[in-house]
Amino acid sequence: MTDEEDVVVIGGGVAGLVAARALRLAGRSVRVLEAADAVGGRMRTLRTGGFLVDTGAEQVPERGYPATWGLLGRLGVDRTAVPRIGRHLAVWRGGRARAGLAHPLGLLTGAGLGPRARLDLPRVLRVRPDFDHPERSALGTVAEFAGAFHPDVLAYLCQPVVSGFFGWSPERSAAAPLLALLAAAGPAGTWRTYRDGMDTFARALAESLDVTTGARVDGVVSEAGSVRVLLGDREIRARRVVLAVPAPVARSLHANAPDHDAGFLAASTFTPVVKVHLMLSARPASRSYAVLVPAAEDRVVSTLILDHVKHHGRAPAGRGLVTVMANPAAATDLLDATDDEVVDVLSGAAERFLPGLRAATTGALVTRFRHALPEATPRALALRAAFAARPVTAVEYAGDWTGLVPCSEAAVRSGQRAAARLLSATPARREHA
Ligand SMILES: Cc1cc2nc3c(=O)[nH]c(=O)nc-3n(C[C@H](O)[C@H](O)[C@H](O)COP(=O)(O)OP(=O)(O)OC[C@H]3O[C@@H](n4cnc5c(N)ncnc54)[C@H](O)[C@@H]3O)c2cc1C
Repeated sequence: MTDEEDVVVIGGGVAGLVAARALRLAGRSVRVLEAADAVGGRMRTLRTGGFLVDTGAEQVPERGYPATWGLLGRLGVDRTAVPRIGRHLAVWRGGRARAGLAHPLGLLTGAGLGPRARLDLPRVLRVRPDFDHPERSALGTVAEFAGAFHPDVLAYLCQPVVSGFFGWSPERSAAAPLLALLAAAGPAGTWRTYRDGMDTFARALAESLDVTTGARVDGVVSEAGSVRVLLGDREIRARRVVLAVPAPVARSLHANAPDHDAGFLAASTFTPVVKVHLMLSARPASRSYAVLVPAAEDRVVSTLILDHVKHHGRAPAGRGLVTVMANPAAATDLLDATDDEVVDVLSGAAERFLPGLRAATTGALVTRFRHALPEATPRALALRAAFAARPVTAVEYAGDWTGLVPCSEAAVRSGQRAAARLLSATPARREHA
C-alpha cells in the first residue's frame, strides 16, 4: 500500500515536532511518524501510581534558551507551568554533598573545589563559545581544556558535569559545546522544570499536528523528485522528509545519504545513558535536588536526582522519587543487563550517598538510552561547518546532534533550521500557496 504526502517528519521528539509545526504554519501538509507510543523522545515523562518519572531531560534554564521560551509563549505555556527548582546542585566529595555548583554560592563554599581551583573558576567561565557555532572555538577535548587549570577543575567540576549530565567521557568530547551551554544557561539558581513533567513541551507542540505514534520507520530512500518512506509492509511517498532521529539512527535509515551528509552523520556518535528511578515510601531530606558524583569518588554512580525535591509533584504526598544515573563506563556495561540487574547495581551503589534508599524502595523503573546525548567529539566538531553549509536536498535532518550542543534548546533550534532550509528550497504546492 502506498500513501502520498507533502512532508513526512520521522521522529516525534522536540526537534521533529518543532520542524513539523513550523512547516504546518507555513502552509505545508505534514505528517509526523513516531516509533514510540507517545511523543517526547528523550524528553518524555512516564506516569505511574501518582509518580511523574522524567526519563530523559530534567530541567531548562530560564537563560540561554530563547528559542524554547519563545515557542512556549506562543503555545500558551507560561512560566508558572515551568517553576524554578529553587534548590542547589551539589558535588560529592570526601563523604558528603557540597552544595553550590553552578551558583554564586559555590565561589564561597567551593562546591567541591579546593581554594586553588576556585581561583581558576573565573578563567574557566570566561571562555564563551558561540552556541550556534561551537566548532568556531578550538578548545580540544574537555580533559585537554581542563588540563590547563588546577587538577580539581577536571576531577570535581568538568568530569562530574559532563558525565553526570551528558554521559560524556572528558577524554572523548569537545570542550566548546560544554562551555557554550554553561555560558548560555547561567547559574543553577535560575533552572526550572515543567510542573506537569518534562514532556509538557512535546505534548503542547503535538496538539495541533498530525502525529501517528507506534509508527517505526524501517528505511528512507531518496529518489528523483520524491522520497520513499518504508514502514513494515507499507510505503509512503513524500516530496520531502525530515529525519528527526539521533544521528546513528538517521544513518541506518537513510542508506543512500549523499556524500556531503555521510561524513558528519558517521562522526556524530552518541553516548549511552542508563538510569533507575526508585519510588520510595518516604522523602529523604536533602538541601540539593541533584548530587553529581565524580569518578574519583565512585565508579558506578554519576548522578542522583531527588525528583521530589526538583518538584514536589513528581511523587505523591509523603512519598519520594530518586533517580540514579550510571557513570559512562558502568552505563556501557548495563545497557544490555536485565532490569533487575540494573536496579540491583545502581540502587546498591547509591546507598552510600542516600543511606536507607533500598529499604525505602517500593518500586523501580529502568530507563536505557542507547543514543542519549550527542558525544560532540572534536572530529564531529571539525566536520560541522561543512555539514551546515550542505545543499538542501529532499531529506533534511533535525536533532540536537546537528548543533552538537547536548540540550533541548539545540533540538528546538535544529527543528526551526530544518524547516527554514526546506521552505527556502521548495515552493509550496499550489493548493497551499
Ligand atoms: C538522560 C538525559 C538527560 C537530559 N537532560 C537534559 C536537560 O536537563 N535539559 C535539556 O535541555 N536537555 C536535556 N537532555 C537533552 C534533550 O533531552 C535532547 O536534546 C532532546 O530531547 C533531543 O530531542 P530530539 O528531537 O533531537 O531527539 P529525540 O528526543 O531522541 O527524538 C527522536 C524521536 O525519534 C523517534 N524515533 C527513533 N527511531 C525512529 C524510527 N525508526 N521511526 C520513527 N520514529 C523514530 C524516537 O522514539 C524519538 O521520539 C537530556 C537527554 C538525556 C538522554
